Amino acid sequence: MIAGSGSGGTLVWLRRDLRLSDHAALHAATREGAGPVWLAFVFDSAILDALPRQDRRVELILEALQDIERRLRERAPGLGLIVRHGDAAQQLPRLVRELGATRLVFAHDDDPYALRRDAAVRQALPGVRVDSVQDVTVFERRQLLTGAGKPYTVFTPYKNAWLKALQDAQLAPLEPDLERLTATPLATGLPRLGEVGFEPTDLHAFWRGGESTARQHLQRFVAQRLHGYRSQRDLPALPGTSGLSPALRFGLLAVRELARAACERGASEGAQTWLSELIWRDFYHQVLHHHPGVVDGPLKQEYARIRWFEGPEADALFAAWCEGRTGYPLVDAGMRQLRQTGFMHNRLRMLTASFLCKDLGLDWRRGEAWFAEQLLDFDLASNSGGWQWAASCGCDAQPWFRIFNPVTQSQKFDAQAQFILRWLPELAPLDRAALHAPWLAAPLQLGGLRLGVDYPRPVVDHALARQQTLARYAVIK
Ligand code: FAD
Repeated sequence: MIAGSGSGGTLVWLRRDLRLSDHAALHAATREGAGPVWLAFVFDSAILDALPRQDRRVELILEALQDIERRLRERAPGLGLIVRHGDAAQQLPRLVRELGATRLVFAHDDDPYALRRDAAVRQALPGVRVDSVQDVTVFERRQLLTGAGKPYTVFTPYKNAWLKALQDAQLAPLEPDLERLTATPLATGLPRLGEVGFEPTDLHAFWRGGESTARQHLQRFVAQRLHGYRSQRDLPALPGTSGLSPALRFGLLAVRELARAACERGASEGAQTWLSELIWRDFYHQVLHHHPGVVDGPLKQEYARIRWFEGPEADALFAAWCEGRTGYPLVDAGMRQLRQTGFMHNRLRMLTASFLCKDLGLDWRRGEAWFAEQLLDFDLASNSGGWQWAASCGCDAQPWFRIFNPVTQSQKFDAQAQFILRWLPELAPLDRAALHAPWLAAPLQLGGLRLGVDYPRPVVDHALARQQTLARYAVIK
């Protein structure tokens, strides 16, 4: 069917749900009512203008859209995505009017910017039915509350409530009727990266493709690694985790699909632990919903009293951290993995984040902003949750007096230093035993490596930094 303007119909606005199957907004649009259904995506300048011109995520979005576009074109000639570039709060209402659509459907997004944008879109469309549906998490907003009707602030009771409330309905696939999708002359093909103002990146260092490849990843992970997830997930040298966080961030797969895969194998400890991680994701999303102030401040107000190290010396330490030159090999390996691929293993996110605020004494918000810029899977809820966990100021966070020792973490989680050597090849001459703390190596163990020249000496002394941090954090008592 070809439909143009003035016909009535439904526009589905894709945002962080860049797929065609198990799709709440598409399901709502195609399983209710009649009339044409169109699909649109907006390269939102309000978000994109602030990014560097090389940003792996923009390329990832384009690859995800290419996957959708290809499958739509295969279904019927003329079927395709409508793509716009500009301020989404203006572009969307304009497009709805151009199409003559009488209904707009999109998925909830609790990012404070997205909430403001969506409210503006709604306001600009009087007389149009605007439906926002749940899709990003399994449970959201006020769906799980404590017995006293309050939001959960501690993970374990939240997880128990999540598991208790879970019924087949929450995980049932929301398959759209793709037959309802309608061709339109406005679907003129996808822009090239340069046309939205960006340059090619090394995205493929970690990620490639859209929904189709994401599903293959999931299937491989479930078949080969889910079972051993519990014992392997903390070892960054192994491919022990799913690596699916970019797929979840951009909705290349529904979280329901992942949770179903875990629940279907619920007898396995690996599957149970993996499901628990998906529940952490829901947990942080509901924290953001109930406490939007976590975007730029500590959830626990008393932590706002902590004085962070500032000034040129602090800036130099921050640069060393970002560039992976702190002199602590596992910290540096994690930071280089992030810079070179856009991904970092969870164990190292915890370690490097703790190192920033508890060894370097720097404001966690500086690290959070660096992760937000670099991470392919950057998600406001999980990133602020993870950082406030590490800085001890968030919901159910690491206690403030618990401070990771970067050397023992390295010995425990990268015992053979395989991960370190992968990212710090300059340390190859070192004796294996010296790789966790090169500054303690005997001259013979250095194998010719010049400390301070080929690889930095530690930028801080951990034992001293620990004492200073305990003193600094004592103000919250
Ligand atoms: P898997 O171990 O396979 O887990 C499956 C999925 O569960 C992940 O893809 C992710 O969506 C979710 N998940 C796993 N662990 C967590 C967690 N601790 N909190 C919330 N969700 C979790 N995750 C992001 O998706 N985006 C972020 O911006 C982000 N920033 C973080 C910052 C810090 C300081 C820390 C400590 C953690 C952060 N995380 C973030 C959580 C976690 O590190 C990543 O989700 C995980 O490393 C992604 O790898 P994976 O897909 O292989 O995970």
